[in-house]
Amino acid sequence: MVEQSIQKLIEALKDQDSIFGPLMFENRRFEKIDPDLWAEALEDRADGEDSMENELDKEGFIHARNLTELQGFMLECHKCPLEKTRTNLVFGSGNPKAKVMVIGEAPGAEEDLQGKPFVGRAGKLLTDILAAIKFSRDEVYITNILKCRPPGNRNPLPSEMEVCIPYLHRQIEMIKPKLILCLGLISASGLLNLKLSLGKMRGNIYELGNAKVMVTYHPAALLRNPQWKRLAWEDVQKFRKLYDDMVG
Ligand code: SF4
Repeated sequence: MVEQSIQKLIEALKDQDSIFGPLMFENRRFEKIDPDLWAEALEDRADGEDSMENELDKEGFIHARNLTELQGFMLECHKCPLEKTRTNLVFGSGNPKAKVMVIGEAPGAEEDLQGKPFVGRAGKLLTDILAAIKFSRDEVYITNILKCRPPGNRNPLPSEMEVCIPYLHRQIEMIKPKLILCLGLISASGLLNLKLSLGKMRGNIYELGNAKVMVTYHPAALLRNPQWKRLAWEDVQKFRKLYDDMVG
């Protein structure tokens, strides 16, 4: 009973966090992420100017030539404690040359068991949302900010995100999507490095390298708060229109 109440409280806090953002977040003007700066950052990594990236570089994943090689490196990853508690690494699934990437926050229990992103109820809802805007799951590429499940489905820690996001950046470099849809505050703030609430990010079009990025609710939050589905529907319709304008 007490555990159920605590779980409900955690879910409610997660939902509030999704809408309003953590209180300690301060608003910041979004600065466009210039493709040249993105390329420079990659060069810095290769030149060893960034010590953390250099550390990662030593381990070789930066030189992975394709997604299969990258997944191989990640299966050996010990950069955060989640590798000890996960059942399976959840690398991602879908079209390796997708024009659209969909990025969530972290694997849940079912994803951890199956080693696939967005399975279970939230996954079914994501499939339905994509189908409603005429995308099949096989056509897009779906992954998460973290590749291993945080115990008890807690939010990813900043330290875990910091060491795992470079893998996501490498996936994006390989897939080269034209558009990215971030699901939930953690995905959006992690990928865009923005400290804004979800409400302030929804509806905007951001640029990350050569990709345009939009933000909407996480399907798990929509399951808990069906009244947000209308807003999510507006978001994904805008996303589809952007796709049609860019890709045709
Ligand atoms: S969550 Fe990411 S950084 Fe942590 S062990 Fe898994 S792959 Fe490595």
